[in-house]
Amino acid sequence: MSRKLIGITCETTLKSGLESPRQALPRPYVWAIERAGGIPVLLPATGSIENAERYLSILDGLLLSGGVDVDPALYGEEAHPELGRVDPDRDSIEIPLTRLALAQNMPIFAICRGIQVLNVAMGGTLYQDLPSENPSHLQHQQRHDGIARDVATHNVWIEEGTRLAEIVGEPCIATNSFHHQALKKVAEGLTVTAYAEDGIIEGVESAAYRYVLGVQFHPEETAFVDEKSMRLFQAFVDAL
Ligand code: MN
Repeated sequence: MSRKLIGITCETTLKSGLESPRQALPRPYVWAIERAGGIPVLLPATGSIENAERYLSILDGLLLSGGVDVDPALYGEEAHPELGRVDPDRDSIEIPLTRLALAQNMPIFAICRGIQVLNVAMGGTLYQDLPSENPSHLQHQQRHDGIARDVATHNVWIEEGTRLAEIVGEPCIATNSFHHQALKKVAEGLTVTAYAEDGIIEGVESAAYRYVLGVQFHPEETAFVDEKSMRLFQAFVDAL
């Protein structure tokens, strides 16, 4: 059996000094997919429904990666004053990619911004600014403390009987956390699979499709040291 092709969505970086903005993807996503036996295919953050259709025609699975905030106009809301940077080019390809992948029943693994894109593409909404809209003692944005990306900063409780529980094999895991936004109204068709102690949604999935699984934390950053994180990538690639 030939190795499967997994499309991974990229971000657009800001112009930095003399450098042009770049199409970028943190290395750990590529590493984790390769280690799981898949072939990563980087999808630039630009395009349209036509690009999305063409990409999906050659792919076996879709990985929605982490990144900046999702434009609230996509779920019919005005921007909150504390809305972070948005990436309209990225939104323009990720929303149609997600909807088409769902329509084709192509497996999706959604990480951080990815779980938010998945929810919005299916009709859900987000907290635009988690610290003001759902104040909590938990550190969901650990970069503010200068903590390394592979260090766990809060616990996540996993619902029994879910695919996530089956993959992780434990009811509670300590995870890293780098998110400014989070799921608010969960889209119809998605089931919440995991929560943080403050009630913030940290995982969703859907039994209506072959494989649709999202997490709010970043398992790619811990996959090289943590077997449970690696299992999330292995389960996705094995499902293709
Ligand atoms: Mn979190």
